[in-house]
Amino acid sequence: MKIAIPAETAPGESRVAAIPETVKKFTALGGEVAVERGAGLSAGVSDEDYAAAGASVGERAAVLAGAELVLTVSGMEPGELGAVAPGALLVGILDPFRRREAINAYGAAGIEALAMEWMPRITRAQSMDVLSSQSNLAGYKAVIDGAAAYGRAFPMMMTAAGTVSPARVFVMGVGVAGLQAIATARRLGAQVSATDVRSATREQIQSLGAKAVFVEGVAGIEGEGQGGYAGETSDEYKKAQAELVSSHLAKQDIVITTALIPGKPAPRLISDAQLSSMRPGSVVVDLAADAGGNVEGCVAGETVERHGVKIVGATNLARSLAADASALYSRNLFNFLSAFWNKEQGRPVLADEDEIVKAVRLTRGGQVVSERLA
Ligand code: NAD
Repeated sequence: MKIAIPAETAPGESRVAAIPETVKKFTALGGEVAVERGAGLSAGVSDEDYAAAGASVGERAAVLAGAELVLTVSGMEPGELGAVAPGALLVGILDPFRRREAINAYGAAGIEALAMEWMPRITRAQSMDVLSSQSNLAGYKAVIDGAAAYGRAFPMMMTAAGTVSPARVFVMGVGVAGLQAIATARRLGAQVSATDVRSATREQIQSLGAKAVFVEGVAGIEGEGQGGYAGETSDEYKKAQAELVSSHLAKQDIVITTALIPGKPAPRLISDAQLSSMRPGSVVVDLAADAGGNVEGCVAGETVERHGVKIVGATNLARSLAADASALYSRNLFNFLSAFWNKEQGRPVLADEDEIVKAVRLTRGGQVVSERLA
């Protein structure tokens, strides 16, 4: 089967959906991989690298023509779908709730769209989980960006000219991004604390050598939460959390917020009044900026200053680590498609009743078929 890797067209998208390693692996399965000229440049992969791995490199129209499988990071624009053969699989991070019109257009064009971010959180799908692979990088980069915006050092330094105190870093929301943020801040020598609503994270925080800051006496979310995700907490819990966080925040230098609730706006974790209690020069990096922000006054994609505190409205930080993000994403795609590969047919065969297929398939046979979009 022909597998197309078009260059990404979404503004700011620097990643690419295949690297030479996955080109070789798809070729070994019998695929013919075609890559658009320049598609990997922003992720550090040259056309020559792709050609050496066995791909053909050409212009967009030629790459897409006759492809049965189109691998993307951010999907394709509806206006371009004429170049894709009906029946083709289009794989990407398709943002189905916010880009519903594009999804409808994929359906109308007879394309089978598969949204990688809807991969179920089951053991079998762990190696296919793009949210994990990209959030992990985002958690790391949030600390690096926070450190760059902070006018002081992270580690304690004892010098002949006196002592530099370690930075105090507080991580709010300890999922994949939060855990990596804790680990990164610890490696840089900061004193780290962290909080979450899911009780299962307490041990994870401590095992990374950070201090767990938890609401006591009011139930949050027991264990891992439904499917590993948090739901909304009670009003009583929210009040207790706000009080706990207020006293802790005033002593922090860097705060990284990552709290998300699937299908809902991001929970508000830091109010303007709480910000004003922080020391001028402190930095808050809000990784939930795209989902409305955890911090009052956060502006997605910008750094704004309030009460002398910088609020970094971080959006899609994985894009700023394009080479690593592309490599991990490309392997997620390969792990997914190869798990369904049918050797006789030389293509992936996606069984209707499979839990993974049910979760990621958005359109098929000219229609939107995803239950979540019904
Ligand atoms: P996420 O991005 O949905 O949310 C980030 C974190 O914010 C979560 O830990 C959540 O509990 C927390 N949060 C939500 N509301 C909050 C609030 N009001 N205050 C403080 N924290 C709040 O989470 P995620 O990174 O996707 O990971 C969630 C869990 O799923 C983790 O335990 C992870 O290990 C697990 N996971 C499992 C698989 C798998 O098995 N295939 C894949 C990925 C993640």
